[in-house]
Formats: sequence, structure tokens, C-alpha cells
Amino acid sequence: MPLFEYLCETCNKVSDFLEKADSRDKHTCPHCGGSKMTKRLSGFAVGRSGCSDSRPCGGCCNSGCPHAE
Ligand SMILES: [Zn+2]
Repeated sequence: MPLFEYLCETCNKVSDFLEKADSRDKHTCPHCGGSKMTKRLSGFAVGRSGCSDSRPCGGCCNSGCPHAE
């Protein structure tokens, strides 16, 4: 099962949840019990400033960025 990061909008803490690909379960923050959890996408799949092959990374990603010059 893949691991997803969720950001709690209530306390701004990130928690990891195991989740099936077709799961639509809502998660609850283990820190504050809040239910406003937003899934965080991996920095690799989505560069923070959206770098791509045609728009090389300007330091937006970590050193492992495949688009870095
Ligand atoms: Zn929370």
C-alpha cells in the first residue's frame, strides 16, 4: 500500500497515512483530531514551482530533481 502525506489545515502538521489507491476514506489528524486533511503530492512528481524538461529547475526541488541543469 502506498504511503501518502497529508497536511492538517487545523494544526499544519504533516502525517503519513497508508492508503489504497481507490480509497476515499477521510483521515483524521492524529495531532489535533481535525478532519481537514489535504493530501500533499510528492516533490518528485510535482515540482514545487512546476519545473519541467522545457523549464529547468531553478532550485525549486531538491538535489534529486531530474530537471536540474
Ligand atoms: Zn491537526
